[in-house]
Amino acid sequence: MSNIRKIGVLTSGGDSPGMNAAIRAVVRAGIASGSEVVGIRHGYKGIIYGWMKQLKSKDVRNIIHRGGTILKTARCEEFRTSEGREKAYEQLVLNQIDALVVIGGDGSFTGAGIFSKEFDIPCIGIPGTIDNDIYGTDFTIGFDTALNTVVEAIDRIKDTASSHDRMFFVEVMGRGAGFLALQSGIATGAEAILIPEEQGQEEKLRAYLEEGNKRKKASNIILVAEGNNIGGAQEIAKRMADEFKDYNIRVNVLGHMQRGGSPSAFDRFLASRLGTASVEALMDNQRSVMVGWQNHDVVLMPFNKTIKGTRNINKKLLEVADILNT
Ligand code: ADP
Repeated sequence: MSNIRKIGVLTSGGDSPGMNAAIRAVVRAGIASGSEVVGIRHGYKGIIYGWMKQLKSKDVRNIIHRGGTILKTARCEEFRTSEGREKAYEQLVLNQIDALVVIGGDGSFTGAGIFSKEFDIPCIGIPGTIDNDIYGTDFTIGFDTALNTVVEAIDRIKDTASSHDRMFFVEVMGRGAGFLALQSGIATGAEAILIPEEQGQEEKLRAYLEEGNKRKKASNIILVAEGNNIGGAQEIAKRMADEFKDYNIRVNVLGHMQRGGSPSAFDRFLASRLGTASVEALMDNQRSVMVGWQNHDVVLMPFNKTIKGTRNINKKLLEVADILNT
């Protein structure tokens, strides 16, 4: 049995589709477990300034399919300081909140881990980011939706690319990780995929363009992950356009549209399951753990492991992409 009577839930860091479904699940599972649930607005900032109110079951009605986060999200420099966290703790005491569920990325989990340790507050993390770069979970909430958004966008770009015999450098999000670029590249049959985890990509791209030139391939999609080590899509495209004059090169940076939209069925499911699991974990007296998803089931991953660990890309998938492009 646990002593938890009031759970605070917040979204922090970058938003991702499915965060609302996770909020809904935390609220409903919290109520089902006999607790009150309080929604905290604007991430950690909302704890510090007391921007919070009780969420009843009806308050989370009709949000499972909505992108973004009804609680809003923010980055909060003040929470990085011990004075800021002290203020946050005072607000939790004032509002009688005795546990937190934090939906966000590993930065948010770092903050939650420090806070939990300093003030003995149980904190559970739910991984929400389109980047899929969190160690200890096969999927993060929002990745599947973003992947489908990217695939749809590339399909459209391919139509116009092939009509005009153009080459498009398409930049996708992912921070320092190439999951979104690699999987969308395979799913759309992109001609080349440049990701942060791989070396020697410029040489490989050059070789491909030389070879492609000989084969006179009409249209091409070159996927560029934003955090790759040879530059953004604009820069690389410019270098290649200067060198390979025969190509009709264009650039498309997909940007923030990748973060929006109605969550996919998978992200709604994942958010619902991890949201309920976060409350189960609190009721089991867990603290400072992320609820993750591995091999079709929930796992608990301590914050210190998930923060220190690196989620590696499966390099085999680069081979797969190469084979399928021959
Ligand atoms: P994400 O959770 O998406 O990785 P950030 O890295 O921006 O996003 O982190 C979100 C917020 O978590 C930060 O704005 C800050 O309030 C909090 N946070 C991150 N790192 C720390 C830290 N070392 N100490 C305290 N709080 C932190």
